Amino acid sequence: MSVKGSSSKGASVREIFSTMEYGPAPEADDVARDWLKRHGNRFGHYIGGRFTEPVSGEYFATQHPGDASELAQVAQGDEADVAAAVAAAKEALPAWQQLGPHGRARYLYALARHMQKHARLLAVVEALDNGKPIRETRDLDVPLAARHFYHHAGWAQLLESEFAGYEGVGVCGQIIPWNFPLLMLSWKVAPALAAGNTVVLKPAEFTPLSALLFAELASEVGLPAGVLNIVTGDGRTGAALVGNEGLDKVAFTGSTEVGRSIRKATAGRGLKLSLELGGKSPFIVFDDADIDGAVEGVVDAIWFNQGQVCCAGSRLLVQESVAQRLEAKLIERMEKLREGPSLDKSIDIGAIIAPVQLSKIERLVQQGRDEGYACFQPSWSVPKDGWYYPPTLFSNVSPAATIAQEEIFGPVIVSMTFRTPEEAVELANDSRYGLAASVWTENVNLALDVAPKLKAGVVWVNCTNVFDAAAGFGGYRESGFGREGGREGMYEYLKPSFVPGLPKYSSEELAAPAGADELDAGVRESSATPGLPAIDRTPKLFIGGKQKRPDGNYVYPVVGEGGKRVGQAPLGNRKDVRDAVEAADKSAAWTKNTAHGRAQVLYYLAENLSLRAPEFEERLRALTGADRKAAEREVHASIARLFSYAAWADKYDGSVHPTPMRNVTLAMNEPWDVLAVVAPEEAPLLGFVSLVAPALAMGNRVVAVPSSKAPLAATDLYQVFETSDLPAGAVNIVTGVKDELAGVLAKHDAVQAMWYFGSREGSEVVERESAGNLKATWVNFGRKRDWYDPVQGEGREFLRHATRVKNIWVPYGE
Ligand code: NDP
Repeated sequence: MSVKGSSSKGASVREIFSTMEYGPAPEADDVARDWLKRHGNRFGHYIGGRFTEPVSGEYFATQHPGDASELAQVAQGDEADVAAAVAAAKEALPAWQQLGPHGRARYLYALARHMQKHARLLAVVEALDNGKPIRETRDLDVPLAARHFYHHAGWAQLLESEFAGYEGVGVCGQIIPWNFPLLMLSWKVAPALAAGNTVVLKPAEFTPLSALLFAELASEVGLPAGVLNIVTGDGRTGAALVGNEGLDKVAFTGSTEVGRSIRKATAGRGLKLSLELGGKSPFIVFDDADIDGAVEGVVDAIWFNQGQVCCAGSRLLVQESVAQRLEAKLIERMEKLREGPSLDKSIDIGAIIAPVQLSKIERLVQQGRDEGYACFQPSWSVPKDGWYYPPTLFSNVSPAATIAQEEIFGPVIVSMTFRTPEEAVELANDSRYGLAASVWTENVNLALDVAPKLKAGVVWVNCTNVFDAAAGFGGYRESGFGREGGREGMYEYLKPSFVPGLPKYSSEELAAPAGADELDAGVRESSATPGLPAIDRTPKLFIGGKQKRPDGNYVYPVVGEGGKRVGQAPLGNRKDVRDAVEAADKSAAWTKNTAHGRAQVLYYLAENLSLRAPEFEERLRALTGADRKAAEREVHASIARLFSYAAWADKYDGSVHPTPMRNVTLAMNEPWDVLAVVAPEEAPLLGFVSLVAPALAMGNRVVAVPSSKAPLAATDLYQVFETSDLPAGAVNIVTGVKDELAGVLAKHDAVQAMWYFGSREGSEVVERESAGNLKATWVNFGRKRDWYDPVQGEGREFLRHATRVKNIWVPYGE
């Protein structure tokens, strides 16, 4: 194999005929060069419907990775540019909202059409700016980007009927990476506009051109000024955007490290946040798979877009009995891959985005070699002009090796073997990430048994790297939270209409329980048996199905209406929280239960609560000073709420998306596993039940912190739990000072999601501390719901937060 990639450039037709090598098949770049020239190879920001000079007057070069040549100068945005763009987006918002669903749908449709009309220009600009093969920009990036606008033109049209009771969040700040510049723009801009929001988008420093071209197309279709704003620049521009106080939502795609810093920077600001981060996705091949098909799958998984794909299949897990055969075929295939200039239509692999990324890949590959892993690279050499890296395979890698754990974001795959499906699942889940997974087997039973066990937002069966606007995309674990695409993606840009009108808690309502910081002398209860002292009835914590004394053995006084002592509650600490999380983590039985089984338990809880209704009413009266009628109402509403979620348990089901690639795509609502719930101070029984019941209904194991001031309404539930067939560890309760416990839960890495209903400050702590493992949070920013109102207190909003959507792609046809 002497003629590969760019080295074939000089071959004459006669030579090609005699060797039968590929000749070059270059796509003309004149259309893109003309466009750049029309702009004088220099671009300002796109703000308020026109291109503007950056306030600082600073520009930087964007280059073609295929030969390191400069394509254009682009504005470096700073805080002042960002402020101008946010102001333009804010100004445009009311008119854009008033335009209504149909008006917005027309614009989205026009954008989709216009993108299609300019598909070739877009494809060439993208290939030049990114260095990826034109074949990919032409056949995937651009058509899929247009498809997102078509799909979301549909959601815009259906907004009022399909998202009744919801409204747009407002001004959205969006930050995208360089690997799929136009596609990531469309994943962010299309749903934002469809939901009635306006946008400020920052493309990546390395790839700003397709976003600027898109802005021009938006102007041509007459998109109202200020609805879309593009501010170019590097990470500092991104940080300035995140820091702007005028935003209502931040959407980010990029590295986990920057995602984590954005989580911290936005904590407590009342913003909606979605993060689509890194991955180290498994590609699992079982021994009955079509091995040739699987080899082509690996090519698509890790050499598509030079492996610079967040969901790249970068860990090859092969069943031992076929590992050698697969590896031999893969090596043979690697020899035949073609690497070269992005505009050559017959290349498979283009250039790496930038020298910094190339060095990262080289460093990690060197580390793999230094650690003694066998490394294969094809015999042909890569072009010398630009920033190229050859396809690379590491064999027999230990699952703990750096190259098996760290995202390389380049054309490098590591392989390891397994013997049983259980081992495959264990290896697949041995990662802090959880974006995607690919499963190869001819046995559909095996595939559909394994898919739900994989901790990943997308599972592709016998396919990989397929995407569609109708199917949500997003991660588990440190791959982030939130989805892009589909119905679930729309919710990322909407909020319930009642939320802005909710009242704020008064400081009195939020005050910590009196005496919580002091040891309690105790309450002397009167004895029912004359002559004998009362038996101590101080409740304990509820952990792993058992009542447990708190670690510190401390209790605090529970003071009812008028300062009267009602009893004591255990003062849980960080160790108790850890024990509770561990119990929840271990208790898989509840998650494995069927939806019908969970419904039965929830009905049983309701039944047992109703048997004890008078006791709970008495307790509520003592705790809150409620009169008899109000106490009865709270108990009755709590029973009804349990009935609601028993009803929902087997009805909040997923959907099947008719994606266009001969696929059924199963969108499954999966539980978070361990969900932490911090209940509100008010309505101590109903508020608690309103949060714990939906979490349980969806199969989560719950660690709950009840109202600090009135915890006894929840501790009285232990006996209800114990007599209702709820498996040990499904619900764990730790009482104490709410915000302290919330902080510990937010930091805990085994908690995957957390809900907090309390103060604004507490909401901020939960959001900030959740950055460690990037758990999904749902907090109230100090706003008070009416738990009796069925719109505010129950329903799909709760169920949506109690689940995450996994899309399983199952192809059909021979
Ligand atoms: P980043 O996460 O740094 O970049 C993503 C986007 O965020 C870019 O627009 C970037 O701007 C911007 N940005 C950078 N710093 C900040 C900040 N502090 N606040 C707000 N925005 C910021 O990824 P890189 O491009 O640096 O790539 C580094 C690694 O990240 C890769 O090697 C890869 O492992 C991973 N990655 C993952 C992606 C994914 O899709 N999951 C995509 C890209 C990278 P700018 O580019 O101009 O600096």
